[in-house]
Amino acid sequence: MAHADTAAAPEITDDVLNEVRASVEQLCAGFPGAYWREKDRERAYPGEFVQALQDAGYLAVLIPEEYGGSGLGLRAAATILETVHRSGCNGAACHAQMYIMGTLLRHGSEEQKRKWLPGIASGELRLQAFGVTEPTSGTDTLSLRTTAKRDGDHYIVNGQKIWTSRAEHSDLMLLLARTTPRDQVEKRTEGLSVFVVDMREVKDAGLTIRPIRTMINHNTTEVFFDNMKVPAANLIGEEGKGFRYIIDGMNAERLLIAHESIGDSRWFIKTATDYANSREVFGRPIGKNQSIQFPIAKAYAETEAAALMAAKGARMFDAGEACGPEANMSKMLAAEAAWHAAEICMQTHGGFAFAEEYDVERKFRETRLYQIAPVSTNLILSYIAEHVLGLPRSF
Ligand SMILES: Cc1cc2nc3c(=O)[nH]c(=O)nc-3n(C[C@H](O)[C@H](O)[C@H](O)COP(=O)(O)OP(=O)(O)OC[C@H]3O[C@@H](n4cnc5c(N)ncnc54)[C@H](O)[C@@H]3O)c2cc1C
Repeated sequence: MAHADTAAAPEITDDVLNEVRASVEQLCAGFPGAYWREKDRERAYPGEFVQALQDAGYLAVLIPEEYGGSGLGLRAAATILETVHRSGCNGAACHAQMYIMGTLLRHGSEEQKRKWLPGIASGELRLQAFGVTEPTSGTDTLSLRTTAKRDGDHYIVNGQKIWTSRAEHSDLMLLLARTTPRDQVEKRTEGLSVFVVDMREVKDAGLTIRPIRTMINHNTTEVFFDNMKVPAANLIGEEGKGFRYIIDGMNAERLLIAHESIGDSRWFIKTATDYANSREVFGRPIGKNQSIQFPIAKAYAETEAAALMAAKGARMFDAGEACGPEANMSKMLAAEAAWHAAEICMQTHGGFAFAEEYDVERKFRETRLYQIAPVSTNLILSYIAEHVLGLPRSF
């Protein structure tokens, strides 16, 4: 079965993916642990790393060639992000640039695509911010309260978003807002619309961004809209159909986050293995003890199983096949495998796990996110229960 609206990506061979992997590894070698530790300490945006990925064309692999990207597809994007994380780096500073433009690509008008996609592909325009979550509605997206009211050739937006990551480092934001009150729509999924907000035009003129300090360096923010004007020309697709457009993009997001988690997991397993081989206590390497070996071996088995599911999902996505179950399952399995591997890596390092210079505590904190965002494990289980197994809807 084909996606509702996604054309198949061109076939990409394993040789090409291996080349991509090797060159991303080389790029990442220029951004060692010391770089990430400093950014983490300062809670600073890793702009140099993002620029290097941009310059190498990696952030534009999902943008078709006709709009200035390389159009290599999701398997290439997944390989890039997996390699970034396996190398000890972090793709969270820019991964949204890869997949949120999918909403514009699949549902935007030709004029909108020509206006924004080439700039996004070249790096002149950054589309890094995705404004969906709100403080009151949380996971219950359909209850969001931000409104956009049509007024001549503009919409006037009022409300608030939370956890809008990278808003301070982005030119454009993809925004989901309510255009028809909930009690006036026929279907509960209708009445929401998606806009491209050019934040450069409205910063301090209706848009306020406040950073949120979090346990990881994620450059996340809360944003406030106070009579913010958005040109009607920036509405994506049809008014009221925005929820569907956002949902359409979620398979790509889940598959890519799954690959980031697999990369994290492989980093933890290699780091734990190297340490277990080299650290000697009681006159022998700690890795000689099965109680050290077995948890690492188990994390390895879990990771490789999750990787198979994620690879299957990515292949299906690129073939234009519906892959909701595979995307959701791989996101959950990979995030859990990464967390187990993180825990084992901590335990294997003993007290040294707490020393910043080993990078274990930083990666430990970073990888925990993916069981909560962009979608929490409970919501994935609920999707599988209802949509795959046919159990009753629970909420
Ligand atoms: C660092 C970070 C970056 C983020 N970046 C972005 C971003 O760029 N853009 C954006 O829009 N959002 C972003 N998010 C938001 C993220 O997607 C949400 O935090 C996440 O979806 C969970 O929503 P919530 O925090 O409101 O939790 P809640 O909805 O309050 O849920 C709390 C807990 O209850 C569980 N729960 C809720 N309802 C049910 C149910 N019916 N059945 C079972 N369990 C349930 C949830 O699974 C969760 O474990 C980010 C979050 C973080 C922490």
